[in-house]
Amino acid sequence: MVNPKPNLKSKFVFFTGGVISSVGKGLTASAIGRLLKERGFSVTVQKLDPYLNVDPGTMSPYQHGEVFVLDDGAETDLDLGHYERFIDIRLNKASNLTSGQIYAEVIAKERRGDYLGGTIQVIPHITDEIKRRILYVAESTQADFVLVEVGGTVGDIESQPFLESLRQLRHELGRENTFFVHATWLPHIGATNELKSKPTQHSVRELRSIGISPNMIIARSDHPVQQSILDKISQFCDVEPAAVIPLVTVPLIYSVPLVLEDFKVAEYILKYFHLKARQKADWSEWKRIIKSEEKPRYQVKIALVGKYVELHDAYISVHEALKHAALFNNAQLEIRWIHSGELEKGIGREEMESCDGILVPGGFGHRGIEGKILAAKYAREHKVPYLGLCLGMQMMVVELARVCLNDPKANSTEFDPQTTSPVIDLMLEQRHITDKGGTMRLGLYPCKLTKGTAAYRAYQADLIEERHRHRYELNNDYRAALQQAGMVFSGQSPDGLLVEIAELKDHPFMLGSQFHPEFLSRPNRPHPLFVEFIKSVIAEKTGKTQA
Ligand code: GLN
Repeated sequence: MVNPKPNLKSKFVFFTGGVISSVGKGLTASAIGRLLKERGFSVTVQKLDPYLNVDPGTMSPYQHGEVFVLDDGAETDLDLGHYERFIDIRLNKASNLTSGQIYAEVIAKERRGDYLGGTIQVIPHITDEIKRRILYVAESTQADFVLVEVGGTVGDIESQPFLESLRQLRHELGRENTFFVHATWLPHIGATNELKSKPTQHSVRELRSIGISPNMIIARSDHPVQQSILDKISQFCDVEPAAVIPLVTVPLIYSVPLVLEDFKVAEYILKYFHLKARQKADWSEWKRIIKSEEKPRYQVKIALVGKYVELHDAYISVHEALKHAALFNNAQLEIRWIHSGELEKGIGREEMESCDGILVPGGFGHRGIEGKILAAKYAREHKVPYLGLCLGMQMMVVELARVCLNDPKANSTEFDPQTTSPVIDLMLEQRHITDKGGTMRLGLYPCKLTKGTAAYRAYQADLIEERHRHRYELNNDYRAALQQAGMVFSGQSPDGLLVEIAELKDHPFMLGSQFHPEFLSRPNRPHPLFVEFIKSVIAEKTGKTQA
């Protein structure tokens, strides 16, 4: 059982969503986290995902978007990327909880006999396990604020155990320690040009029927929200007028904290908890970021060559990292989404060639591989700046190998197990693994950089740490041949056995990393490799040599 009065100093802010999914609950939670952090409080975040997968690691990106990887190798929901980027924190596996994990744990306990013959039920066994894991995050981090976001929409059958657990927690921890934010959507009726609050009222009623009354409503909309609508929501949902916050879609997500700041969201939450800000919020850095979006000096057009390009969420961290680096370099970013599978047939080639830089992101499986190789070939031959991430690095190696080994069949054994030149091959420790979940080389690993290389110029450090998610690796048998062809292994594991970064000599910027730098980029601290990539794009475009 959960200790009903745990000795916790944390305050809990719970986020639920109503009306439709994708209203921006994750962004709202992230932005509110930033507001609190700006006032000197420590903040952590946990996402509760109602699906039965243990984690999103095995899900198709079409189903779930990107899999975000943490330092400890946890494969998590993409919302954790927003939390980390907005609040500038590093989370761990306890920050993403799924129904699959909860059920797996409860069933394992039942099989061990831990329940002493009891009947195992959603209430109390599942809800107790959920509460235990939420409280664990508070206890292990000792954060001043624990933000907990429930995935899905109120009314979904599968999220009910999570909502019931939050209801119980409010009761056990007391109202003085818990605050509910409900994010909803205001539909726009074109014929009469008006916004409607009725779905919001219904979703609040639904929330009430499970015993939860929201303290704040974030009313999302694509259109300006009149005061009359806010008043109506306040009256019919019984939420104070000051706590009904309109959040109109903005072109740059990093302005959301400033929008919420204008509506005094943090003041309201702190007052509720009888807390005083520990420091004055300083938004100068964020304002600078937004200003460079409004008044860019350069334009950069980047071809993103991937196989899941129909769903931009599949590459959300890559997109954000490019954006951070572009903002930092005073450039306006335009991304051209090129389907690698189509590129194989020549479709999108002209579009790719019209771009100033090429980025090939990570991926799995055979489809679209030759398109990625074509992109790398074009970048190498035409000296177009190129950044390859994980698979994008592997394909850059395969492309060069086909030329320097004079073997058009050179490949990764992931795509051609019989290849005559397996330049990318399964890592030794991966050979006997058959399970699919959480079995790759995952999470943070150190990497030693070589002086005098583009990688070193970017990082200005001898040793770095980056997040990984892969099974395959550059085959050391081919290092010498690749080096002779102009490839430099500018980043390696400290024991020298694994190539972590490969780059080309005599090229403005052609670099691939076996890790995923995109996961560590922040709006105010763009990732060095992305910064260097965009810098070289600008330098090539403007004909200037790099500083
Ligand atoms: N499929 C490749 C591997 O497993 C690349 C993985 C990735 O791009 N994340 O090594």
